[in-house]
Amino acid sequence: MSEDCLFCRIVSGDIPATIVHQDERLVAFKDINPQAPTHFLVIPRAHIATLNELSAEDDTVVGDMVRRASLLARELSHAENGYRMVLNCNADGGQTVFHIHLHLLAGRPMTWPPG
Ligand code: AMP
Ligand code: ZN
Repeated sequence: MSEDCLFCRIVSGDIPATIVHQDERLVAFKDINPQAPTHFLVIPRAHIATLNELSAEDDTVVGDMVRRASLLARELSHAENGYRMVLNCNADGGQTVFHIHLHLLAGRPMTWPPG
């Protein structure tokens, strides 16, 4: 838990969010500024600032994040049409909140390359 981290404060319940799933390792909630009809963020409860800080002990939680996002996509019937998962790191990656988070975007066709 990092006191000055927005997503740690969502995990602790200090800051409200529309939570769509939570378990012992993860919390998933709606992005406040959605970029697609479905835009969820899946985060570990543990504070990890960026992808650069991942260690081998985090492999399980990162796997859980990916699989949970795909389960949420399936629950909302996005599996067949498809969806996108995004993880941004630091300035060039466009990271603005320094607690790792997986974006699940779905419900419209995505373009490539990203901006
Ligand atoms: P990134 O640019 O990859 O760091 O993504 C950060 C995401 O967090 C953005 O898509 C924001 O819209 C989202 N966000 C920021 N504050 C909140 C909040 N209080 N609740 C939900 N999503 C948020
Ligand atoms: Zn945090």
